[in-house]
Amino acid sequence: MYLLKIKNSLTSILNYLPFFSVTELYLPTLCKLRCFHCEVWKNHALDAFVPKDFYKKTVHLYGGEPTQDVSRLTSLLSRLKLKGSRTHLWTHGLFDENALKSVLTWVDHIHVYFPAPTQETYRNITGEDGFVQFLSCLEFLKEEKKEMSLNFPVRMETLEFLPDVHEFARRYGLDLIIHYHKDASFSKEPLRYIHRYRRIPGVTVYKSTHHAALACAGFPLGALKSPWQIVINLAYSIRSRITSNL
Ligand code: SF4
Repeated sequence: MYLLKIKNSLTSILNYLPFFSVTELYLPTLCKLRCFHCEVWKNHALDAFVPKDFYKKTVHLYGGEPTQDVSRLTSLLSRLKLKGSRTHLWTHGLFDENALKSVLTWVDHIHVYFPAPTQETYRNITGEDGFVQFLSCLEFLKEEKKEMSLNFPVRMETLEFLPDVHEFARRYGLDLIIHYHKDASFSKEPLRYIHRYRRIPGVTVYKSTHHAALACAGFPLGALKSPWQIVINLAYSIRSRITSNL
């Protein structure tokens, strides 16, 4: 009980520090994919209001699929950038490249959803034959010299993909975010296995703490703004970079 109180108080203090000024911002959009573990495509997006004076040092923008509403996305991102936020865009990557060029100016980092490492497994999970377009998106973002990383939501059904997903990210020279939901039915051994990836440079692991029917299930809801998870990943990242240089 006391430990929990101390933890909560520390969390409130950390949230005031600029380094931990991170938020996750929902842009109400639908999505053209049909991922089996997601409810977005079964619903209609609601409207959400972002106050004009909204500011956080780091903002992670997610949907649905934010690139489905390019004009709203541009207006929101430009507003955040002009206020000085560092902007992260979470996308499935199957967007219209020409339409997105105007958006990219306002984005510091793009996180591309990578649910499966082959054409067939990608189709099985997303219900869309989109793997080739996904690869073309990576090439496009590389040409645009955008800072990016891959985002792999791991579940029991997809745990076996992990080595191939990591190998793919390594081959492309991209950082990898692995995340799972706190309610996922992982026993201790698979969890240890997932967390071992933290020791690899460029890999971070997050535990998603929230669930929302209208949020992309490929987004680690609640995890990115958790000061503790930020600290743990930072510590592992420093450790893995030091040991890989020894
Ligand atoms: S998980 Fe994300 S990419 Fe997949 S259907 Fe849901 S919103 Fe779209």
